[in-house]
Amino acid sequence: MQISQFVFNLQIPFAIVKLTATNMLENILDSPIEYLKGVGPKKGELLRKELGVATFGDLLFAYPSRYIDKTQFHHIADLTEDSGSVQLKGVLRRFSTEGEGRKTRLVGQFRDESGAISLVWFTGISWLQKQLIIGQEYVIYGRVNAFKDAYSIPHPEMEVVSTENTQTATAFAPVYPSTEKLNAQGLDAKSRRRLIKLLLEKIEPAQLPETLPAYVVKKFHFPSRFESILLIHFPRTEDELKASTNRLKFEELFFLQLRLLQIKRRRKDEVKGYVFEKIGDFFNNFYQNKLPFELTNAQKRVLKEIRRDFGLGIQMNRLVQGDVGSGKTMVALLAMLMALDNGFQTCMMAPTEILAQQHFISISNYLQDSPVEVAFLSGSIKGKARKHILERLAAGEIHILIGTHALIEDWVVFKNLGLAITDEQHRFGVAQRAALWKKNKPFPPHVLVMTATPIPRTLAMTLYGDLDISVIDELPPGRKDIVTLHRTENHRLRVIGFMREQIALGRQVYIVYPMIEESEKMDLQNLMSGYEAISREFPTPEFQISILHGKMKAADKDFEMQRFVRGETQIMVATTVIEVGVNVPNASVMVIENTERFGLSQLHQLRGRVGRGAEQSYCLLMSSFKLSKDSKERIQTMVRTNNGFEIAEADLKLRGPGDLEGTQQSGIVNLRLADLAKDGKILAAAREVAARILDDDPYLKRPEHEVLAVQLAKEGKVKKAWSRIS
Ligand code: ADP
Ligand code: MG
Repeated sequence: MQISQFVFNLQIPFAIVKLTATNMLENILDSPIEYLKGVGPKKGELLRKELGVATFGDLLFAYPSRYIDKTQFHHIADLTEDSGSVQLKGVLRRFSTEGEGRKTRLVGQFRDESGAISLVWFTGISWLQKQLIIGQEYVIYGRVNAFKDAYSIPHPEMEVVSTENTQTATAFAPVYPSTEKLNAQGLDAKSRRRLIKLLLEKIEPAQLPETLPAYVVKKFHFPSRFESILLIHFPRTEDELKASTNRLKFEELFFLQLRLLQIKRRRKDEVKGYVFEKIGDFFNNFYQNKLPFELTNAQKRVLKEIRRDFGLGIQMNRLVQGDVGSGKTMVALLAMLMALDNGFQTCMMAPTEILAQQHFISISNYLQDSPVEVAFLSGSIKGKARKHILERLAAGEIHILIGTHALIEDWVVFKNLGLAITDEQHRFGVAQRAALWKKNKPFPPHVLVMTATPIPRTLAMTLYGDLDISVIDELPPGRKDIVTLHRTENHRLRVIGFMREQIALGRQVYIVYPMIEESEKMDLQNLMSGYEAISREFPTPEFQISILHGKMKAADKDFEMQRFVRGETQIMVATTVIEVGVNVPNASVMVIENTERFGLSQLHQLRGRVGRGAEQSYCLLMSSFKLSKDSKERIQTMVRTNNGFEIAEADLKLRGPGDLEGTQQSGIVNLRLADLAKDGKILAAAREVAARILDDDPYLKRPEHEVLAVQLAKEGKVKKAWSRIS
């Protein structure tokens, strides 16, 4: 099989799916949404536009985002400010409007046998005045609000008491993600519930056939798929809710893992790789004579794992994870030397020009006075220079090519590429990685992926679930933990004083400002006024200050950077462009301005720029006094720990996987129900079950696994259809 073909055909099913009775019946789920009673063309259009719900099936699989607990009624007298959302049964005694103009609100008094509480509405007042009936008994639901010891419930859901909402009040009512437009068109919470109920009545067990092997369902005591889908919409008890949610989450993660592990296995079965059997002069000369330090045990272990891969005759696809400063570059270099010893070229690709240049510089330095030819290539290398590099590359005169994603372009042709390394900030997609595969024949090069910062375990398992994973879980000896402190504006003078002290001791200082595209102009102003303020505090000629930001010309950036590297300037005022670019061991203080505007991983990455020398290093996180809960949590996490893995986990919990860099483009993390921040245990179980099944029955040929083949095929089809559209 051709490599390229293989890369793009990974989703092809193993079993030819026959059109069975089940498949026919399932078509009801494909019915256009407007055919559902109570929907019609207008609401159908809206559901399509607002929620992407186009079919019965889409509606069915749009699960509730939360539930209203209707299993009990609270007593008004028992309510406290911590009661949260409550269900009450009582009588509406009276209502009237209060306030004037824009502050007009409708206030009602609601009473049960234990006491009374105010109900408040700010919108829809005239409609409510017509609807609400004084003296009527209602079941209401809403969140208790406390203001100066008085409790009220703003905008409660109100239902006239009926046998349905009292006697059968043993259920959790689903609440679905909605939009204002939907609410305005009468597709509010209540009517959504009604639609789902109608739909569920139409569906029979055969239309939601089991997707998991019977023994797996049994092993975990899962409800059937049909039951689970009924129950996730209308659970009667907490146990039912939990059981159905667990099952559906498992299913989701299980198929994801099954697909990833299948890709991994099939690659191993089908994609041969070059055998690097020799350790030769390139490696030995460097390792014995030039290695500037002893490798850490973690570096040695990971290197051994890579070396073992090189010997298998199978293409390596390995991820190396390690914290900032754990020494991934050296591991990469040593792996490259092994490739050279076996007559192959290697390349290393980085996500930004600055990072690629830094790799080029540090690797060239390591290989000074050695016969290894190292070259740099990026989009900015043009004309003659580029032509020259490409010629030498094709002739095999360049051993190591370092650069940006320019390396994957078709016009970059190697004589004999044996190992491709990518240093990723979760930034390269699967397709880009795949492009590297085509750079040699008959076999693709071995691929080593390095992450710039640690990523949480659950995310690694999904984003990189098709790769083997190595972890460098140890920092080189002698590193002192960076002391991290949170400071606000009223500490400014002392912070300046501290900088002065450190500079007097001969150290250098970074001051980092946020810079994002959306507010670029203001950010730049902010940076410049910060620079001016600092220039006043640290006047020439005694002090020299560098400035660095993304709007500067490459040559100017380089000039400023070099001055700081050589120690000619004591302070570097910069934006996050220094995030990945710099290694200045003498810089031991980092001041981060507007810390609340940075993400956690970014802060950790920035902090990693100090603590590279022998001196005690400091990171001062400046922020305004008033902070949101999340900002506070981020800053506290930074103050608490220097461990990148811990920080990555905290980041995932705070932001959710959808917001983490790279997850969106990857398209892999498209989970409906499972949450990678919370469902680590389910994910681990799902991966283990998937692995065991593939160990046993790699091609899913056994009768008990037919359901899996069918399901994978179906998902494959959906994927294909999507990729054609988008
Ligand atoms: P990262 O994993 O963040 O890419 P680097 O490869 O840039 O880290 O290494 C960070 C610093 O640690 C470099 O200055 C490197 O020379 C140094 N280093 C790497 N390995 C060791 C080691 N085993 N002992 C001492 N210093 C090391
Ligand atoms: Mg690095």
